Amino acid sequence: MAQHVADVIVVGAGNAAFCAALSAQEHGARVLMLEAAPAEESGGNSRFTAGSMRVVYNGVDDIKTLVPDLTQAEIESTDFGTYTAEQFFDDMARVTAHRADPDLVELLVRRSFPTLNWMREKGVRLIPIYGRQAFKIDGKFKFWGGLTVEAVGGGPGLIAMLTQAATKRGVPLRYATRALDLLYDGNRVQGVRARHDSGIEELRANAVVLACGGFEANAEWRTRYLGPPFDLAKVRGSRYNTGDGIRMALEIGASPCGNWSGCHAVQWEMNAPEFGDLAVGDQFQKHSYPFGILINAEGKRFVDEGADFRNYTYAKYGRVVLQQPGQFAWQVFDAKVKHLLRDEYKIRQITRVSANSIEEFADKLDGVNAAAFLATIKAWNAAVRTDIPFNPTVKDGRCTHGLAVDKSNWANTIDIPPFEGYAVTCGVTFTFGGLRITPTAQVLDSDYRPIRGLYAAGELVGGLFYFNYPGGSGLTSGAVFGRIAGAAAAGVTA
Ligand SMILES: Cc1cc2nc3c(=O)[nH]c(=O)nc-3n(C[C@H](O)[C@H](O)[C@H](O)COP(=O)(O)OP(=O)(O)OC[C@H]3O[C@@H](n4cnc5c(N)ncnc54)[C@H](O)[C@@H]3O)c2cc1C
Repeated sequence: MAQHVADVIVVGAGNAAFCAALSAQEHGARVLMLEAAPAEESGGNSRFTAGSMRVVYNGVDDIKTLVPDLTQAEIESTDFGTYTAEQFFDDMARVTAHRADPDLVELLVRRSFPTLNWMREKGVRLIPIYGRQAFKIDGKFKFWGGLTVEAVGGGPGLIAMLTQAATKRGVPLRYATRALDLLYDGNRVQGVRARHDSGIEELRANAVVLACGGFEANAEWRTRYLGPPFDLAKVRGSRYNTGDGIRMALEIGASPCGNWSGCHAVQWEMNAPEFGDLAVGDQFQKHSYPFGILINAEGKRFVDEGADFRNYTYAKYGRVVLQQPGQFAWQVFDAKVKHLLRDEYKIRQITRVSANSIEEFADKLDGVNAAAFLATIKAWNAAVRTDIPFNPTVKDGRCTHGLAVDKSNWANTIDIPPFEGYAVTCGVTFTFGGLRITPTAQVLDSDYRPIRGLYAAGELVGGLFYFNYPGGSGLTSGAVFGRIAGAAAAGVTA
């Protein structure tokens, strides 16, 4: 017998789901959250993140609004610059090759600041990302790449703060409860069928918000939609995001939308486990490649490591590594840039080699043609434009000249030992294809009519990201559309 359990059921317990739940609750709805994972593994991909969020700000005063406990000393020692709405629009247009849905982008950009501020009011504390997004130049921290704030405690901190905010407001959350399908009478969605330890239950509500992630953890769908060899890629985050929300909605006639063959995929520790490990979080990633070179099994470079700031290339280079023979590459650095390597290069769970001569180093690069590698290094060192000054805070134009694959910025000769190599493969973050929604986050059917009672937010929304992605947009998107979806879902119940 189906029970009417709430006004709004929110499926998932990641960032988008919590924002939807808090928003629906704020608009007077009785909310129930369902989470497939048990409490200890809950929080979705959001919990694996660094908690960094892309947000529009027009100067230090906006940062002070988001980070009220910013100290005077921090303000004086930091150049936060700005990240204007125009910059965010430009970044979205550029990295998605102008395919991103303009209505969705408009909401993402314009609502980014008010939404992060709203999260702060709900209890999410933010801080500047000094560690990863700022370099100290002439005694002053300078932020770069449009990504400036993160949640205190990263992804685990974000999920803990959101869980606390929901608990404080009396929003119940059922863990280890997987939504299986939607209750739909052909007119409106009336709830979900869900499975938990004691069986399968029909849970009725006036509206459902799907915020249960993409299909990145589903090897069969990855192969089907992203294409081989994405079955061989590692999954960076939650093993629970198997595309259920998308499937459930498609089964009742929802319209698929966006870049179904596309995904966010990064360079990831070669020997990482099949799915993410919460104890390691995002530290399997290896994001300092703009300061080194990438070498494949044939001993060759294959991509412009310095095409842009890492925030604008990292999400597409995982796929490029996956396409190399054996699905791996080595990131190579010399002593000159070692101090620029991010914190994730210092973890224990890493495949790293080091040597004091380049010949010895070549022999240590497992799976690589050593002679071809040495030839690559020789040609590389001769091609670096050392007459152009190196500067990691700007696109410095310090390039190579005349190579089959040139590097556009931050090129340095590789000649000062010790030489270091880090083995990477592809780690899938999340998939880009999803559901078509209206600007009020209502899911559309294949005739583009809103499906009554059905809303969506987060990774399973299609139409925002194509080919690539500006770092820190995933959490912001989940927050913006989660907040919108929750309010709209509460509205239908009023
Ligand atoms: C390692 C890593 C680092 C990242 N770093 C960043 C970053 O710093 N900044 C950023 O913006 N983005 C980052 N991302 C991307 C970011 O995680 C996602 O864009 C964002 O968290 C998606 O939020 P979401 O709420 O849509 O999905 P999720 O947070 O994945 O939540 C989905 C939830 O749905 C649940 N679920 C799935 N199926 C069902 C079902 N059938 N029934 C019930 N529940 C279900 C899952 O268990 C999960 O709790 C990172 C991702 C990873 C993996």
